Amino acid sequence: MTTQAPQTPSTEDFYRHLQNELQGIREAGLYKNERIITSPQGAVVTTRDGREVINLCANNYLGLSAHPQVLEAAHEALRTHGYGLSSVRFICGTQDIHKELEQRLARFLGTEDTILYAAAFDANGGLFEPLLGEQDAIISDELNHASIIDGIRLCKAKRYRYKHNDMADLERQLVEARQAGARHVLVFTDGVFSMDGTIAQLDQIREITHRHGALLGIDECHASGFMGKTGRGTHEHRGVYGQVDIITGTLGKALGGASGGFTTGRKEVIELLRQRSRPYLFSNTVAPSIVGASLAVLDLLEASTALRDKLEANTTYFREAIQQAGFQIKPGTHPIVPIMVFDAVKAQQLSARLLELGVYAVGFFYPVVPKEQARVRVQISAVHEREHLEKAVAAFAQAGRELGLVK
Ligand SMILES: *Cc1c(COP(=O)(O)O)cnc(C)c1O
Repeated sequence: MTTQAPQTPSTEDFYRHLQNELQGIREAGLYKNERIITSPQGAVVTTRDGREVINLCANNYLGLSAHPQVLEAAHEALRTHGYGLSSVRFICGTQDIHKELEQRLARFLGTEDTILYAAAFDANGGLFEPLLGEQDAIISDELNHASIIDGIRLCKAKRYRYKHNDMADLERQLVEARQAGARHVLVFTDGVFSMDGTIAQLDQIREITHRHGALLGIDECHASGFMGKTGRGTHEHRGVYGQVDIITGTLGKALGGASGGFTTGRKEVIELLRQRSRPYLFSNTVAPSIVGASLAVLDLLEASTALRDKLEANTTYFREAIQQAGFQIKPGTHPIVPIMVFDAVKAQQLSARLLELGVYAVGFFYPVVPKEQARVRVQISAVHEREHLEKAVAAFAQAGRELGLVK
């Protein structure tokens, strides 16, 4: 019989190790505190101490998170289709409304078929490995979302990265992949990058990928529902609607804000994902209430562009007004507006003071954004009225003056 050597770590050592890790995160100033709100998501939210604050940090781009028609559709689906399916799709988890939503998303986004997932994180996590193998290559923008990076890690294809939004480097990587003898090549990018609101140059990327016989895939989480004249997304905005091979997206941002994700594209792609994509095969069906509500969202967006038009007008107004108040922003047109503070401590102080003044907006700093690029990032919504935005700009101006950020 052997006994444990005295220096063998105990299970208590494991928990002490975790405590040290947590302490390290706190000391590095990277600990993420979660603020508790007690109301639905909206232009104004209620904090736990009962204060109402203007909300500038939700992905509620179209204001659908608490829209009456969306709520009613969720209730109706609960009544007609129950609370949950208690199953994955291929056993007994597919209802008529799931198939209907998949078809409706394909129609909205200009593709052939769609596969639903529990989250866009799963859509990206289960996308690459079933479609591409060792002989293939994936070329990824270096700032792509974490879920894309993880999904690519699970895949055997050779990996290339191009410098963020750099078309010359993308082409260099494509040439390199071709010279290395890659069979199928997939270029994958966020349609919109969430930290800067940068919109991928899909017109150029499509042209370059065509020239090298490569497929193009995009993640439209910060675009579906409002980018482009009819809200179809970045492909519409850049004039390449109907020309993107694979699109992933979320139901958890502009398209209602609950949860759920999808991949949409050619029918062969979707059919193979249904056979082989692990987060689809081994995870529960999207809840019927979310599916019913998502159908109502598409009804709303196909009937009228009023919401995305209002979002666009709000964004234009806010971008102009915040600059007039003396702040520097990352230029662009997206409702993600990074208000540059540069200094990490000041960004946190600005966010804290804004909350006291009734405005909820979060600071971002290294390592989420590059050093000396700290900012308060706001996200404009169609649910904001002009008075909310005016009040928010006034609060920024006051807090900015107090902190010596603006005159
Ligand atoms: C939010 C986001 C995701 C994850 O979406 P979920 O549906 O919440 O999992 C994936 N990709 C991008 C680019 C995102 O912004």
